[in-house]
Amino acid sequence: MSSFVFSEKPIPIDSGEGPYLYSDGTEYLDFGASYACTPVGHCHPEVVEATKAQVEDLLYVQASYPNAARTALYDQLADVAPDGIDNVWLCNSGTEANEAALKFARSATGREKIVATTRGFHGRTMGALATTWKGKYKKPYEPLIGGVEFVPYGDAEAMEEAVDEETAAVILEPVQGEGGINPAPPEYLQSVRETTEDAGAAMILDEIQTGLGRTGTMWACEQSNVVPDILTSAKGLASGLPLGATLCPEWIADGAASHGSTFSGNPVVCAAAGATLGVLEEENLPAHAGDVGAYLREGLAERLGDEVRDVRGEGLMVGVEVKRGGNAILRDLALEHQILALPAGRTVVRLLPPLVIDESHADSVADAIADIVL
Ligand SMILES: *Cc1c(COP(=O)(O)O)cnc(C)c1O
Repeated sequence: MSSFVFSEKPIPIDSGEGPYLYSDGTEYLDFGASYACTPVGHCHPEVVEATKAQVEDLLYVQASYPNAARTALYDQLADVAPDGIDNVWLCNSGTEANEAALKFARSATGREKIVATTRGFHGRTMGALATTWKGKYKKPYEPLIGGVEFVPYGDAEAMEEAVDEETAAVILEPVQGEGGINPAPPEYLQSVRETTEDAGAAMILDEIQTGLGRTGTMWACEQSNVVPDILTSAKGLASGLPLGATLCPEWIADGAASHGSTFSGNPVVCAAAGATLGVLEEENLPAHAGDVGAYLREGLAERLGDEVRDVRGEGLMVGVEVKRGGNAILRDLALEHQILALPAGRTVVRLLPPLVIDESHADSVADAIADIVL
């Protein structure tokens, strides 16, 4: 049997360490962090140790019984979450975190309507998918949940017009990932915050790709001083073990109706997440990502000049918009330079390296992309 969902690339991976993956003795620089899932690098020793220790003690217990690894993670999340956000629901993926966010927003407000943005990406289950922009992902699976309206990302006035007294939630990313690495100006996020507050609607910030230090701060929303009503996290939260989190303040938690999931708060996954958050803080990785990210973007812009349409991003969430097929560039990067990166649409090369990379890695990647493009 083989996967009919993912088309597999001809690079079988055996092991990983830091920013590297190994395929039959060949070292690859993982500049996509395997879908942004390894912010502290592959197999960070502290994450491996904490996970191993938990595996020895207990693989699973239902979330209705307290468990030390889970309780510790709840406390760590309370520490790192924006002010006023001190409730969490743990699930197993990004799409589930958003699914729960949409459910909680509807039950807490007693309203139905959801406003999402063009080029947004929020996951692939029926609810989250309904708030995702791309037709190719949605059309063949319709009908999805109803009541979702789209407005152009970045257009504060369109948002103001769309959000009203019937709106349960607005959902958006502070920097769009899948949609092409599109950072929102701080004023836009601040305006969405005001609009939702005025209408009594919940502002859901999907930080599944932007969170955990990637943009230079723990959460991207810190840079615009915006605190959402619901913040979702996943991807690198447990260094690649399946974990999603829906974080919210009291009014959402109080208004949440019945919800649940068998694997919620699995102790092994919680132990991995606790260690991951610990390393992010100890190694000061958010600030490091801000610095190396700026260095990487400058290096790319200097080398590539007018040969590309744009180099943009925040921290180590970087997009290079190219003039010819992005996929051919990604293939050359992998096969000729042993650098693994990601697409974002057909023309954007997306760089989401582990936050532990240094300037020499940034130079190698900028050199390699220049070698291919120029
Ligand atoms: C990856 C991603 C999701 C979906 O997460 P899954 O774990 O794949 O379900 C949702 N939102 C954003 C912004 C993402 O990058």
